[in-house]
Amino acid sequence: MSKEYDLVILGGGTGGYVAAIRASQLGMKVAVVEKDHLGGTCLHRGCIPSKALLRSAEVYRQSKQADDFGIETSDIRLNFLKVQERKSKIIERLHTGVQGLMKKGKIDVYNGIGRILGPSIFSPMPGTISVEYADGSENTMLIPKHVLIATGSRPNTLPHLEVDGEFVLTSDEALEMDELPKSIIIVGGGVIGIEWASMLADFGVDVTVVEYLEQILPTEDRDIAREVSRQLKKKGVKIHTNTKVLPDTLKKDQGVIIEAEKSAKTISLEAEKILVSVGRKANTENIGLDNTQIVVENGFIQTNDWYQTKESHIYAIGDVIGGMQLAHVASHEGIVAVEHMAGEESYPINIEHVPACVYSHPEVARVGLTEEEAKKQGFSVKVGKFPFQAIGKALVFGDANGFVKIITDEKTEDILGIHMVGPHVTDMISEAGLAKVLDATAWEISKTIHPHPSLSEIMGEAALAVEGLQIHG
Ligand code: FAD
Repeated sequence: MSKEYDLVILGGGTGGYVAAIRASQLGMKVAVVEKDHLGGTCLHRGCIPSKALLRSAEVYRQSKQADDFGIETSDIRLNFLKVQERKSKIIERLHTGVQGLMKKGKIDVYNGIGRILGPSIFSPMPGTISVEYADGSENTMLIPKHVLIATGSRPNTLPHLEVDGEFVLTSDEALEMDELPKSIIIVGGGVIGIEWASMLADFGVDVTVVEYLEQILPTEDRDIAREVSRQLKKKGVKIHTNTKVLPDTLKKDQGVIIEAEKSAKTISLEAEKILVSVGRKANTENIGLDNTQIVVENGFIQTNDWYQTKESHIYAIGDVIGGMQLAHVASHEGIVAVEHMAGEESYPINIEHVPACVYSHPEVARVGLTEEEAKKQGFSVKVGKFPFQAIGKALVFGDANGFVKIITDEKTEDILGIHMVGPHVTDMISEAGLAKVLDATAWEISKTIHPHPSLSEIMGEAALAVEGLQIHG
């Protein structure tokens, strides 16, 4: 069977399905080819399940602190199977929602593996998509005017820490655990590693983090990473930075033992399991790129600012092109790509306007440059910093650790970066994002009236602190 489309999207993850909806709004005839589940990594193995588990861990931690709020409890127990059930229900509900959105947009969904073919009887240009089905039924040929590659990514692994699903896990396997280990070594202190460290520590697991670089959360501002490290250590998490797992030292028996090199010394680490969280690998294999002129560099598909590959009718977005591997980046890239192919006015994404969050406890959120990046780029910076300790709502809320840091350019007063660590900062970062998009100055943020009492007051105070004019500190 063959069928013609304006657009065929390879991969129905956050990037792919959002692009499909936008294309349908623009009047295109659209198909999505998805080999697994609509919603992709974010919905099934990423953002949503991990945040569901983090929320249960938060409720567990707070229940144990209920006495501080004058609420007497006894016998607080964790039922991890119920935690997992709750996670699955949320996923299922959202999955049903995405399926409904596809129907509403009259988007055809092909549940199979898609591959780009070279010039063929169907088209003189590469881009016909062959859909292969798991049950072996005859392939479908989709003949599109445009193709959007949104095949996403999968966990990176380390050759000497082979994932076996029992002792050595990636986040994919960890999300499916039906019981918690007593102890775990997390190799990699990036965003995913730190979210897991925080969540498991809150669940009562003995956690050790091993990070190769000199700070955990290596892409975050140094002050922020230091505060997260301080708070995680208070929870009992052991953190080894500047530490490299040594090859061929893994021993598995009842649990695992590995050796690592730290400050020229060999240390031995022992736990029930290892979680490997060392980045994500783009899904570029077996999708027919060999049949095209598309360029892959350092494992990622190369595109221009409108996400066109070397084949100008084939676009690529999301994790498969690298950059900031985030769900909201994938979906916005999808929208830009689709609007561009439809001939609409579209604007390239400015990564300095993209908020990035870590949903650990403490939460972390940022937009723009870190202080180190700003200085490296030659800016002479002015910094305003304000602590949650001086924010009434944070004390009412019962969590007043952390701060907000605003970095500005001394010459132009432009905001270069806003960094937050503390309660609910992943929700508060949107104000910082809007400030960046509108090219606001710290003065303008300070003139924005924030309600009292609210956690958001910290934005006004940090903005005033840039000139040393904060009211409550
Ligand atoms: P994906 O979501 O990976 O979707 C790609 C889809 O393509 C998949 O469904 C796959 O099955 C399909 N596919 C691949 N090859 C083919 C083929 N040949 N034929 C048909 N279908 C194919 N991001 C955030 O912004 N916030 C978070 O809190 C967050 N938390 C995360 C937590 C974890 C544990 C992980 C792993 C990731 C997290 N991310 C988070 C990252 C986020 O999940 C990704 O950035 C996002 O899913 C990328 O979307 P995508 O559409 O590019 O790819």
